[in-house]
Amino acid sequence: MSDMKFETKVIHAGIDPDPSTGAIMTPIYQTSTYVQDGPGKHKGYEYGRTQNPTRTALENNLAQLENGRHGLAFGSGLAAMDAVLKLLDPGDEIISTNDLYGGSYRQMVQIYARYGVVAHFIDFSDKQQFKDTLNERTKLIWIETPTNPMLQIVDIRDVCKAVAKKDILTCVDNTFASPYLQNPLDLGADIVLHSATKYLAGHSDVILGALVCNDEKLAEKLRFLQNAIGAVPGPQDCFLTLRGIKTLHLRVQRASDNATEIAAFLKKSRKVDKVYYPGFIDFPNHEVAKKQMRHYGAMVSFTLKNDSKRAANRVLNRTKIFSLAESLGGVESLIGHPASMTHGSIPKKERLAIGLTDSLIRLSIGVEHVDDLIGDLRESLK
Ligand SMILES: *Cc1c(COP(=O)(O)O)cnc(C)c1O
Repeated sequence: MSDMKFETKVIHAGIDPDPSTGAIMTPIYQTSTYVQDGPGKHKGYEYGRTQNPTRTALENNLAQLENGRHGLAFGSGLAAMDAVLKLLDPGDEIISTNDLYGGSYRQMVQIYARYGVVAHFIDFSDKQQFKDTLNERTKLIWIETPTNPMLQIVDIRDVCKAVAKKDILTCVDNTFASPYLQNPLDLGADIVLHSATKYLAGHSDVILGALVCNDEKLAEKLRFLQNAIGAVPGPQDCFLTLRGIKTLHLRVQRASDNATEIAAFLKKSRKVDKVYYPGFIDFPNHEVAKKQMRHYGAMVSFTLKNDSKRAANRVLNRTKIFSLAESLGGVESLIGHPASMTHGSIPKKERLAIGLTDSLIRLSIGVEHVDDLIGDLRESLK
């Protein structure tokens, strides 16, 4: 079945009619335990933290969407990340993208630093910086691409190739692209992480995380951590994520098409200073995005000529269709202010160094009609 096209996999991969009733939709197995025929004689399911059939269907589906062999679901994207970081020992070092999801940065700097894990945040397009940071203690490369919220592109194949012969794991947070646009395992990564809360579930009604990998031993370690820590999703959230995934290709395609038009509109606006969108041919690493992604994604960031929080607030408070909220990847369009919302925990100096200024506004483009979205932005920018 692995030769199915992506559009078929989202609907069928890993999902079989329920063996006991034939139900076409995977049932929500709302149970904490399973009756055994005799001591230790069971049907592969012993306890709800360890296994749940709704979760198994989701995990198998996710694995195939990322062209991987093993999928693991977690209670959130950050819980999935926690499992990856727990592969490390005190003294180990991480090299990570410098423009990172705020919660991922917080986990490395405020939690794992206390356990002796050192994280370096670099610009991967600066090859010398990468070389200088790499050392014998480096055990994990953490890549986000496109990054949040500056939408920088990291060449996944390039970075993975540079450490392929070393005892270093590479993990790509593929949340912003979704597996419809980008498949990091195919480009040499060891682990793919998703906040399924975003595009995968796609309807802003679930918090869920996932990991996908190919290596059997690595999967075993991660599955051990998943069970030993217990940050697993409930069956209802697995069901909702499975349901959301069935339209992933339709949603991400439309949202990305909308984003292309909106980015072009913003670029022409007299009120707008910079527009960050990997689809622009003059955007840094546009060629890499073109090579490793199927489309340029549905996230667009921009700054205002009047670079102040006040000016940004005026725009943020005036949109009627774009809702002011954290998060992304739902069917509805969202507008946000990273400096005071998602990136509040990143020091101002580090924030400004990557161009995340006070007026930077981030858009998560949804699947509404693009004319309504552009009209809403036009009015709000006046
Ligand atoms: C939201 C997000 C996360 C964290 O996921 P949760 O499901 O909220 O825990 C991690 N990485 C990126 C890029 C995100 O957007």
